[in-house]
Amino acid sequence: MTHACDIAIIGAGAAGIGAARRLAGRGLSVVVLEALPRLGGRAWTATTRGLSLDLGCGWLHSADRNPWARIAEAAGFVVDRRPSAWDRQFGDLGATPADWEAAGAAFDAWSRRLAEEPPASDRAFDAVERGERWLAYLQALSGYISGDELERISAADYAAYDRASTFLNWRLPAGYGTLVTSSFPADVALHLATPVERLEVNGPAIELVTRRGTLSCRAAIITVSTDMLAGTAIRWPAALDPWREAAAHLPLGCNEKLFLEIVGPSLFEAETHVHGDLHDPASGTYYIRPFGFPVIECFLGGAGARRVLEEGMAAAFAHATDQLAALFGADVRRALRPALASAWGATPEIGGGYSHALPGNRSARPRLAVPYEDRLFFAGEATHPADFSTAHGALLSGIRAADQAAEAFSRERQ
Ligand SMILES: Cc1cc2nc3c(=O)[nH]c(=O)nc-3n(C[C@H](O)[C@H](O)[C@H](O)COP(=O)(O)OP(=O)(O)OC[C@H]3O[C@@H](n4cnc5c(N)ncnc54)[C@H](O)[C@@H]3O)c2cc1C
Repeated sequence: MTHACDIAIIGAGAAGIGAARRLAGRGLSVVVLEALPRLGGRAWTATTRGLSLDLGCGWLHSADRNPWARIAEAAGFVVDRRPSAWDRQFGDLGATPADWEAAGAAFDAWSRRLAEEPPASDRAFDAVERGERWLAYLQALSGYISGDELERISAADYAAYDRASTFLNWRLPAGYGTLVTSSFPADVALHLATPVERLEVNGPAIELVTRRGTLSCRAAIITVSTDMLAGTAIRWPAALDPWREAAAHLPLGCNEKLFLEIVGPSLFEAETHVHGDLHDPASGTYYIRPFGFPVIECFLGGAGARRVLEEGMAAAFAHATDQLAALFGADVRRALRPALASAWGATPEIGGGYSHALPGNRSARPRLAVPYEDRLFFAGEATHPADFSTAHGALLSGIRAADQAAEAFSRERQ
């Protein structure tokens, strides 16, 4: 390992890669340290049976203003601009068309109340109508969107994301993770499988202690997830306690994906979608044959994703198969096989899905993004004021932190 550099970047997810791209070619020596043996963090495209499947980010949200879309186009990636099938229940399976419509209307009404009459408590749950018939559905959606139950979501934070979103979602057949990892700049030093174990501020030097040696740098950009920052896997100096406290108010929710392979002649229509069970807050939501691939992607959030970690993969696949059999008929059991699953909540280097602000804690995002003494800069999805929980928010935060670090260097030189 190189033992001295201008700027070290801790973490090579979308934020760390964004920072590295921004700093490349600016005359500063930059080293990226990544704990995992691969690039990308929560941007991870796994390849199985010749298919590229995203275990983490898959959708280019706010696609018309998403910088990853421009990077993809410039690099020659195929970008699929077809609208998502999320809003349509294939064949109205599982409930009457009127019930599907009523459940959708309940969600729209809740979103409107959140934006127009935000609850004084700042608890997203308090914008739910008393005795709401579709509460289980709203909780399931909260799980997908925020990774946790409505009781633990800041209404103001949620509304800020919604206000900024353009609700246009595109995809990449080659995988979002493939795009993110392939965009790592060639001329920046990278050390994979090199977790930072301790960060020390020693006079003018920042020292990053790893099992492969200590890297001494003049500044560092910290991009690890909020759970890593608030947790104890890395020993942080006491001076960073306010940042760790902010991170603790922006916990990662629970989000997991299961991919079921479809074998034999397909009983499923490509590019369609079903919600598993309107009355189950832990229900999966199923994207069927994305891009025509012979798979069903089951997305879980909140209670449903926690159950995957508690009960294990076999039980999770069995539960998903049961939900699909209840909707499409028992015959589909013969056509479905477990193919691939994420385990973000059981990955010690990440710790969960994506960040949400706890009620009353929307201000934790800007607090987390403040630099420490012009020497430590904070990036990562959780630091973006509105595009948090996304890969483009992470990228933009990395660019912002890189600019802050570069400006600090140019001030020092003056
Ligand atoms: C199931 C799921 C679905 C998602 N779907 C979407 C989607 O459709 N669209 C979207 O835009 N976003 C989606 N996201 C969110 C998106 O993936 C993340 O917001 C984004 O990738 C986070 O990037 P990051 O760089 O902030 O953090 P990370 O990707 O977590 O990067 C931080 C890096 O730091 C590393 N690290 C940790 N500890 C250390 C250490 N001690 N030393 C060195 N390195 C360390 C980690 O290994 C990791 O690589 C999804 C996420 C999940 C989990």
